[in-house]
Amino acid sequence: MSLIYGRSIGRSWPRVGSIHPAFSSSRYPGFLRPCHHLDFQLRGLAAPAHRGYAESKLDLPSLDKKWRKTWDSIRDSTTRSEAGARLEGARNGWSDAQIGPGSTTDAEKKYILPMFPYPSGTLHLGHLRVYTIADVVARYHVLNGREVLLPMGWDAFGLPAENAAIERGINPATWTKTNISKMKEQLDVMNGSWDWSRELATCDPAFYKHTQSIFLRLHENGLAYQDEAEVNYDPIDKTVLANEQVDANGCSWRSGAKVEKRKLKQWFLRISKYRDSLLQDLGILAKDGAWPERVLAMQKNWLGKSVGASIKFPVLAFNQDVHVAIEVFTSRPDTLFGVQYLALASTHPIVTKLAKKDPGLQAFLDTLPGLPPDSKVGYLLPHIRAVNPLAYHEETPEATKKSLPVYVAPYVLGDYGEGAVMGVPGHDIRDHAFWKTHHYDEPVRLVLAASEDESTTALPNEPFVEHGVLTKQSGFYEGKSSQEAGQMLVSLLEPADLAKPVEKWRLRDWLISRQRYWGTPIPIIHCESCGAVPVPEEELPVALPDVEAHWAGGKNGNPLETLTEWVETTCPKCGGHAKRDTDTMDTFVDSSWYFMRFVDPHNSEVPFSPETAKSLLPVDIYIGGIEHAILHLLYARFIYKFLMASSTTQEYGVSNEIYEPFKRLVSQGMVHGKTYSDPSTGRFLKPDEVDLSDPSNPKVVATGEPTLVSFEKMSKSKYNGVDPTGFISQYGADATRAHMLFQAPVSEILDWDGGKVIGVTRWLGRVYDLVVKTQDTPVSTEFPTPKTYFEHTSKKLDSLGPEELARWDADSAIWRDVQKTILSVSASYDKVYTLNTIVSDLMSLTNTIIANDGASTFIQREALSALVRMAAPITPAFAEECWSILQPDAHSIFFCQQPLSALFPVIDGSLSLLQSRKQRCAIQVNGRLRFVVEIPQPPALEGDELRDWLIDEIKKTDEGKTKMSPTTDGSPASIDVASAKKIVVVKAGKLVNFVI
Ligand SMILES: [Zn+2]
Repeated sequence: MSLIYGRSIGRSWPRVGSIHPAFSSSRYPGFLRPCHHLDFQLRGLAAPAHRGYAESKLDLPSLDKKWRKTWDSIRDSTTRSEAGARLEGARNGWSDAQIGPGSTTDAEKKYILPMFPYPSGTLHLGHLRVYTIADVVARYHVLNGREVLLPMGWDAFGLPAENAAIERGINPATWTKTNISKMKEQLDVMNGSWDWSRELATCDPAFYKHTQSIFLRLHENGLAYQDEAEVNYDPIDKTVLANEQVDANGCSWRSGAKVEKRKLKQWFLRISKYRDSLLQDLGILAKDGAWPERVLAMQKNWLGKSVGASIKFPVLAFNQDVHVAIEVFTSRPDTLFGVQYLALASTHPIVTKLAKKDPGLQAFLDTLPGLPPDSKVGYLLPHIRAVNPLAYHEETPEATKKSLPVYVAPYVLGDYGEGAVMGVPGHDIRDHAFWKTHHYDEPVRLVLAASEDESTTALPNEPFVEHGVLTKQSGFYEGKSSQEAGQMLVSLLEPADLAKPVEKWRLRDWLISRQRYWGTPIPIIHCESCGAVPVPEEELPVALPDVEAHWAGGKNGNPLETLTEWVETTCPKCGGHAKRDTDTMDTFVDSSWYFMRFVDPHNSEVPFSPETAKSLLPVDIYIGGIEHAILHLLYARFIYKFLMASSTTQEYGVSNEIYEPFKRLVSQGMVHGKTYSDPSTGRFLKPDEVDLSDPSNPKVVATGEPTLVSFEKMSKSKYNGVDPTGFISQYGADATRAHMLFQAPVSEILDWDGGKVIGVTRWLGRVYDLVVKTQDTPVSTEFPTPKTYFEHTSKKLDSLGPEELARWDADSAIWRDVQKTILSVSASYDKVYTLNTIVSDLMSLTNTIIANDGASTFIQREALSALVRMAAPITPAFAEECWSILQPDAHSIFFCQQPLSALFPVIDGSLSLLQSRKQRCAIQVNGRLRFVVEIPQPPALEGDELRDWLIDEIKKTDEGKTKMSPTTDGSPASIDVASAKKIVVVKAGKLVNFVI
């Protein structure tokens, strides 16, 4: 760092009209990158225009506008010249040479990505939080000389647009486009440094063409298939939902409707083929806390691998044509002796069959959809019993040999295991509850105990669910451990084909068919003779047809189904009559690969070129909410693994080393809004029902009572929403960003209290005052860096007078704090989760600079320069303004720099020179501590001389003055030095004891 301040070279604004093409020689078009050789170029471009700062007041919103304009003009010229370079390059095979592995630029790349938004038309505070974090982290890496990719796009397909279109009678494309332009504006207003040259929208045919080609590639590899399946059907949105989109109560995640089960032919993606690597590679993501533990746990649970056994229970049926055995999956074969009944899911084939002849059973099944998921109802199947396979062993206890009742019970899930469970009331909570409901008078059999002597066996009314030791109820296995016994029992039954060890997964294949219009059409043609035929690659995209009349008519349902001219087509294989698939894809298919498209967004041939992918993927830091912990992240990992690592897709087969799309995942907390409610009724109060004339004591207008104040999830019904755009226009984007980060650690809930923004704006005001104050003070150019100044001066401290020493003390106090702050702030930017501490660290540095106003102008300016650059990622426009005052010829922190590559301050190794010349001195009277003062380090004195020097110095301090000198009104000092019998100096003056 060499900052030599020349006084007033002409305080001028950068007027970047045109920029030398060399400015934009970035390897990655559109990258926001530090420029290494700009200084001399822009020097000539800046038109001198004097402007006095002393009289200007800090107007943060107008600083935003001013600097956004400057940044835009720099970016525009960059894009222009790069477009030229691209054209030039295209003729010369540029793209391969520039982006390929042979490229010579050695700057480290950072791909930083916030989860892209659904274009609802309004940016809310939750968006603002995640996009602020992303932009701040990106700007930090730019200032560290890295090539940063920070793209933005739109998750633009989906039901809300379609529903809005039906409601408003307009095309969803039009509605979406309008929303995108609104939100784009809002994303700029927050001072985001988005790379709009890579902007994409998933509803753009240029994008979904590639979504379709990825689907066809999956199809080619047997990973996309059609199957008749019982599906979750949402009767309100009139579409099929994935299992993941149905909540624990059996309701749609979107419409909230009770989901119905229907049998339909649907498209699935075979994610199950990747389940082993999806599970195993969570280990890679767990290293160094790269992904939050909570997300890893949720993914692991969703994959749901469990190892257990499949066990066959032979069936005794009287007059019933049913299977010879019921197969169950259990993770606890060690409890097999304790089985007291079997329970079947309502969808089990035996149940379906029996229901046809058993009206009672059918009536029972009809009542199930209305029941809560934890219902303990059951239907005892008449004329059917089952037999424990262990019954065939002679030494099995009699109790286990008895035949078992078979129930139909809704607590058994059809999609897990075999749709049948073995009921072990003694060792399973739900089985216990079910048994107690239906057989309250029959004893529960305990076949396991915590210890061999059974002394710690569970209470009679509680199941014992832990692993333990088998009891005598387990006959000849008594005394064996759970694990040992489980394996032995399975081995015992295996030769008779009554049991086998199995692995079970909770993960199902991914159902992607949606019976809706606003999504990527499935590129398949159905031919009566050839079956499902892929649309030939060269005919992609299969574009969504215009159905204006459908929207204008406000009709429900999928218009594709009835659009004959679109549906009717010819078979690509045989040329015969065929029909297009009228389903569209789940929008999670679009978002499963959009981050890959950002690396090569204009490639019309393939989703992305292998070379670009190799240099830019994976995403280094992915930022988004915990609500995407399962679906989106699991699907994205699957598709990434398929595209990157599958040997059958050599054209994308970038590298076997790349397994995971997101190196780091940062999961930010929600934003809660300040919520007022009436204490007497608990009703939420509208803004006009709250009297805020005294903000610290809000009152209910109607009653004058103090309101209740809480922070809750923002919603219309709580009247606690905040429009971030309005807030930004009032306080400026920078103060909003800083306030947002300052209020809570990134991963925690942010209680948004707009009133507290004043803390941040005051701080910015103080920094600005300091900057303005230093601009007109003369600056010494004697030392090129603070370090050389401290090195030089530290050698001659003995020869300095008191004034110079005082300046040294102030200088070193400031510079010590600068070094300390650089360390803590850099660590926080790197960690991301502690961004909140940066603002407080910088506030504290500001206080240090203010407190040490006796410091030299040189150090003050150097400290302010470091402070401004450290704040720049958070408050970019404000920092640019300050920087332009401190460095009138340097132009932009982000685009134009010193000839050095990185502008973010680094520690300079001066700390060892900056030891405080002061020391603490404890004053005791008769061995009891009275007070502690800070005094200069004692000179090389001893004995009485040191003692007298110390007393002089103590008396000079504020506390020493009041406690050791006679007061002006004649009353005695609290410590009368003169009357001391003895004064003991300990540890070279760190302690002085007066014996009185
Ligand atoms: Zn055909």
